[in-house]
Formats: sequence, structure tokens, C-alpha cells
Amino acid sequence: MATSDKILAAIASQSDALCSLSRRIHANPELRFAEHQAAAWLGAAVEAAGVPVERNVAGMATAFRARIGRPGGARVAILAEYDALPEIGHACGHNLIATGALGAFLGLAAVRDDLPGEVLLLGTPAEEGGGGKIKLIDAGAFEGLDAAMMFHPFDRDLLAHGALASEWLTFAFTGKPSHAAGAPWDGNSALSGVIQTFNLIDSQRVHFRDGSRVHGFITNGGQAVNIIPEHAACQFSVRATETGYLGVLVEQVLGCARAAALATRTTLHVSREKGYADMRNNMSLARAFGRHLSAQGRAPAEGDDTVGQGSTDMGDVSHVVPAIHPYLGICEKNASMCHQHDFVKHAGSDRGMEAMLAAARAMALTAEEVLRDGALRSAARAEFDAARR
Ligand SMILES: [Zn+2]
Repeated sequence: MATSDKILAAIASQSDALCSLSRRIHANPELRFAEHQAAAWLGAAVEAAGVPVERNVAGMATAFRARIGRPGGARVAILAEYDALPEIGHACGHNLIATGALGAFLGLAAVRDDLPGEVLLLGTPAEEGGGGKIKLIDAGAFEGLDAAMMFHPFDRDLLAHGALASEWLTFAFTGKPSHAAGAPWDGNSALSGVIQTFNLIDSQRVHFRDGSRVHGFITNGGQAVNIIPEHAACQFSVRATETGYLGVLVEQVLGCARAAALATRTTLHVSREKGYADMRNNMSLARAFGRHLSAQGRAPAEGDDTVGQGSTDMGDVSHVVPAIHPYLGICEKNASMCHQHDFVKHAGSDRGMEAMLAAARAMALTAEEVLRDGALRSAARAEFDAARR
């Protein structure tokens, strides 16, 4: 039997177990950095295949790493995410990402003695804010890799789709409290600072580059109706199609908050939280993945500019190693999108499981091809180097 057939047979033999684990994670959503059950279940499945699991990677209790194959050759990482969202649960389908990566790894584990290189399974916590992959990058987990891959559930099959560079800004305004009816002239409203920040940002939108996103909400709007608000705050997510332009956009937004403070005679405290880098899809690898997906009867598009973009810490990975983040549909086109209530249902559906298994097969065969095919590795590396310039 050819190696690829052995890989596919191994995934087939595991498919029931993969689906039931995916449904178990789906039914037990855990928030970023607290994915203790999911990480334990995934690790146990790897150990059951006779592969040791390293836990607490990069100082994160819910990160893990396993490796198979031969050191010294090419190296590929397959990434699992498993965090859920507050209140709406697995509305991003990370339960499918988790078992898709596990399935690919177990398929490759069945031929581990024949692999001409090394395959890593990386359990990456906290994609929904927190950036587990960034901590793994900082800890050197992506050094010396030829490729990194994961898949994400969606409403259609796409080999490559952008993700926006992002940063979070929190603006805390401090004013001067006063009786709102008896002596409003003695007060300065922190809430006015917040409201004018929103208005000024809206006034600048026309100047933003295409594809930029600046969206916020009020986290503190005041304390009581009869007090001129002393404290008020808001938070913004600032996103741009390229990390280079993000800095320009952040400055523009900071200027709006500073101007609001000036006009409302309030003081401003800014806290910045680094977000994620934009996604650089490696098309050499994405097309290889696409061939393996098409061979299963799916018809992925290379890209689709009509759909919106989010942000992911896989973007940061794509800046340090050739990487792909293809999407597989788990529902009809436009039926539902990530982070919507309906998407939760699709993430636990039979169609979701089918997409997860298809992704597992295509990732396993792509990883094997990367290990075996030096020309593919060179093409991916050349593309990666060109994007960095
Ligand atoms: Zn997601």
C-alpha cells in the first residue's frame, strides 16, 4: 500500500472517534487559556496512538506539542485550536479545527517510520484574543519549520483568505463630577469624551484605506443619571489589511481620542494591546492542499474577495514560517458566518464533521508532500521570502 493510502486508511479507522471527540469539545466550550478539558482529551488521543505529549508549552497550561518522524529532515507543524467564545460557545468551530489537526496527525502517525522528516502537532490556546500562537512563536516553537498549517470552518471552501492585522485600544476618560441639574457648569463629562471619540473616528473613516476596520463599544458610560460622569471608557479594535499600515491607522484613532479629551476638558488614559498580524497565505502550499482537497471531490475556490475578513494569530505564524489557513464550508454559502448563533449548530453538525475529516485528510497528505518534495519546499520558501521584502 502506498504511504498516502496508509494515511487515509488510518484516518478512516479513526473517523468515529474524531467526530465524537469533536462533538464532546463542542458540547463543553471552554474560554481562552482555560481549555483544560479539550487540551487533555486531545493529548490523551495522541498518547493512545503511542506518541508522547509535551504539555505546558511556552508557559501555557493548555498548550501542548507532540512530534513524530525523523529529526534532521524537513519539518511541518499542524496546528490545533480549541477555545470557544463567551456566551455563544463554539461559534467559530474550533472543535472542528482541533480534531481536524488531530486526525491529520494520527494519519501521519500510522506511517511515522516511513516519514522522511518530522511532523509536529501543536496545541495552540486562545485564538479568540490572547494569542497563544504568539507566545509559542516567542518561545521558539516555530523555529526551523518548513510549513505550518491548520484549517478553519466557514460557509464555503477557500484555499486562501486574508486576515486583518489588529490592535486593541482602550480609552479611559476622567472628567469632573458635578450635579447634572444643579451645577452642570462645574463638571466635565468623561462620557462626552467617549462619545466625541466615536464621532471623530467616524469623521475620519472616509480617509481609511480600503479594507480597514475600526469598531468599538462603550465599556463604561457613567455612574448615575444625576452626576456628570467622572469616569467613562471605550474599547476599539483597529484592523488593517497590512501590519505596516496598521500603525498609521492606530495613530489616526489615537488622535481622535486625544482631540476628544481636549475638547471635553477631560483627561485620557490609553492602553494598547497588541493584536494579530495580517495573514500571508503561502500559495504554493495552499495549492498543494487544494489538490488533495479536490481529489476528495470538493471544489475549493482559491480566494473570494466578497467575504469579509477577521483576524487570527495564524497571521503571526505566517510571518515567521510559510503557512496556510484554508477554509472549509460546514453550511450553505451565506447561510451563517463565524461568531453567529447558527454557526454553533453547524460546528456540531454531520456536515461539520465531514468537512473536518476532509481537512484532516488534505492536511495529512499536504504535510507528507512537503516532507517528501524538496521543490515544493523551495517554492514555498521563495514565496515566503518574497513576501517579507
Ligand atoms: Zn476561529
